[in-house]
Amino acid sequence: MSQRHVVVIGNGISGTSFARALRKRSNHRITLISSESDYFFSRPAMMYVYMGQLREEQLKPYGDDFWEKNKIERKRAFVQRIDPSTSLLHFDDGSSMVYDDLVIASGSERESVHWHGEHFGAIHGFVTLDDLQMITQQSDSIRKAVVIGGGLIGVELAEMFRSKNIQVTYLVREFQFWNRVLPDHESSMIEQHLVADHGVNLKMGVEVKEFKGDEEGNVRAVITTSGEEIDCDFAGICIGVKPRIGFLAESGIQCNKGILIDASFRTSVKNIYAIGDCAEFSPALPGRLAIEQNWYTGRMHGETLAEIISGSPSVYRPSNYFNSSKLFDIEFQVYSRETVLSDKLKSVFWENHAQRRCIRIYYDDSTLRFEGVSALGIRLRHEVCDRWLNENKSVEDVLTHLCDLNFDQEFALPFEQEVLDLYNRESGKNLRLKKRDFKRIFQWR
Ligand SMILES: Cc1cc2nc3c(=O)[nH]c(=O)nc-3n(C[C@H](O)[C@H](O)[C@H](O)COP(=O)(O)OP(=O)(O)OC[C@H]3O[C@@H](n4cnc5c(N)ncnc54)[C@H](O)[C@@H]3O)c2cc1C
Repeated sequence: MSQRHVVVIGNGISGTSFARALRKRSNHRITLISSESDYFFSRPAMMYVYMGQLREEQLKPYGDDFWEKNKIERKRAFVQRIDPSTSLLHFDDGSSMVYDDLVIASGSERESVHWHGEHFGAIHGFVTLDDLQMITQQSDSIRKAVVIGGGLIGVELAEMFRSKNIQVTYLVREFQFWNRVLPDHESSMIEQHLVADHGVNLKMGVEVKEFKGDEEGNVRAVITTSGEEIDCDFAGICIGVKPRIGFLAESGIQCNKGILIDASFRTSVKNIYAIGDCAEFSPALPGRLAIEQNWYTGRMHGETLAEIISGSPSVYRPSNYFNSSKLFDIEFQVYSRETVLSDKLKSVFWENHAQRRCIRIYYDDSTLRFEGVSALGIRLRHEVCDRWLNENKSVEDVLTHLCDLNFDQEFALPFEQEVLDLYNRESGKNLRLKKRDFKRIFQWR
């Protein structure tokens, strides 16, 4: 294949995974563009820089010589406009660049509802490196923070502030915490963890109306729709993210909420592809959301597009869904056949509220097929979950082999027998737990 110039807008996990995987497969000229940073960095780890557990330098997964060694060129600039008729990108510094193939991996930006008073100082989201720097700079003068929005980024911001003993009032519009993802029991475990273990002043079912400022133009209070006035010297807006597509307005590339793509990541314009947080499958792939904004999905998009551009496969068929995150001290993991675990599935649920640990094993009631598992405070083995889903194991097989799934060390209190007892009691069966077996776990012969 003749050498082409493949240009990637965005050096996040999806753009960089693509560039890296394409380099392994081809001799094409590759250029990565970003207005945010010169280097690829771990966005989920930004919070640890604020908390002093990492230096900003340590956010980089690759050393500084990686780019030259892999012949990946970089440009730091904002793409203001794409002109597909001339295959040109126009930058904010006045320059332009010609591409043969263009991959848009422009990620997400903070969602906003444009509340009255949102222009005051000391009101920020937490999405970009700039946000991290602004919050870090202001940190010493923050005594009372209000965090708005009950998702993952809101919890991170609350944890960051609590790590510096800053008072946190946490406003969540819903009545159950992160209920889009967590079932009721799990939501209330996290609520208790925030309040009882970390001193967060959590207020559920609360909506923001506006912000009040002081004479210097900084935020002074958040006013809720019920009229409550909550004093603060910082407000964090964490009400979600949306695909970053504003710069595509005149490009002719079809967009809905995100950039519309088919199952091969192709946009409506020839030689232009989209991956990661900014991409919206049309139609959505079976069992998956049309837009999936998470780290692991971005990596898979990037790697698969590199394979597709290099000749095989021809379409993206995502494997089982997986995600993990930390909610203060509690690790959350989920594995499932489909992105959203249906309400129609049955589950075996075990919890130890005092230890802040729980596990939920989902199955189809009519076939007993294992459909997924989620856990808080218990670490699961990725390869085992994945294999069990691929092998269409029955829930009874899963429950009797639970010791293989548990990644935690021998000294962590066991829970497997109690989970199986719950199932035995409900089904009237007498299944027996099998001992952990590393031969089985790692498939040694
Ligand atoms: C605080 C935080 C914590 C998170 N924690 C988790 C987690 O625990 N687990 C998880 O799975 N996910 C997590 N996520 C989500 C995850 O980080 C994203 O899904 C992922 O980073 C998206 O990768 P991406 O490559 O698609 O886009 P991005 O990482 O957003 O990269 C896109 C890049 O493109 C640049 N860009 C955009 N437009 C232009 C333009 N016109 N010109 C030039 N450059 C442009 C942007 O500035 C950006 O640098 C978290 C996100 C945040 C903000």
